Amino acid sequence: MRNPMIAGNWKMNKTPSETVELIEALKKIEVRSGAEVVVCPMTACLCAAAGALKDSKIKLGAQNVHFEDKGAFTGECNAATLKELGVEYVIIGHSERRQYFAETDETVNKRTLKALESGLKPIVCVGESLTQKEQGITNEVVCLQTKVALLGVGEKIDDVVIAYEPVWAIGTGRTATPEDANDTIRAIRGAVREVYGDAADRVRILYGGSMNDKNAHDLMAQPEIDGGLIGGASLVAEKFEKVINFN
Ligand code: PEP
Repeated sequence: MRNPMIAGNWKMNKTPSETVELIEALKKIEVRSGAEVVVCPMTACLCAAAGALKDSKIKLGAQNVHFEDKGAFTGECNAATLKELGVEYVIIGHSERRQYFAETDETVNKRTLKALESGLKPIVCVGESLTQKEQGITNEVVCLQTKVALLGVGEKIDDVVIAYEPVWAIGTGRTATPEDANDTIRAIRGAVREVYGDAADRVRILYGGSMNDKNAHDLMAQPEIDGGLIGGASLVAEKFEKVINFN
């Protein structure tokens, strides 16, 4: 009942010409899994990416959006600009933004509300640190992050995608076991249900954290995992193709 999503987070990789080159390779892929495919290039490459994606079923995502409409926010990008560029999804609250750019649960919530108000679909990232995992408080951490991020979302809950990304698994080659990822995602869905009731069954919750061509099949076989947010393995067309066609 939930359509799988495979989203590539290209982070601070690929120049505009390299972005177009990768998109041209991805456009040749036959998507046999039925997954919705999303690519999230650097902000400065979105314009080039939008041009290359014209007439393609691959959707365009951004990696961040500011919560104000305009003003003195050097280096940020507003929702209206993303919309005008043809962006449909936007990653919000990625752990790298939390770690290096002082993103908090509160700013994640503000950005999520602005995205939804502007017609963008947020991919809201939550995940525990290694210390929190070792302390056995993973579920508490991710459920609190989820509830704060989604405060005030209301009926727009159906436009929200959540990505469970254990911080210790991002870019490290370490992956949560499919069973652990499934259990944590079930807990996150429970937190959504507490606030938004049965809509929780419609919200897609992705797994992210060293998901790649080798482990995508096993992760995607879990009933609670509705897709993947992929970093490193989305930068190489041949690897990303295998993740996209995970089955
Ligand atoms: C990410 O940054 O969202 C991610 C999951 O990265 P990687 O796949 O490289 O761990």
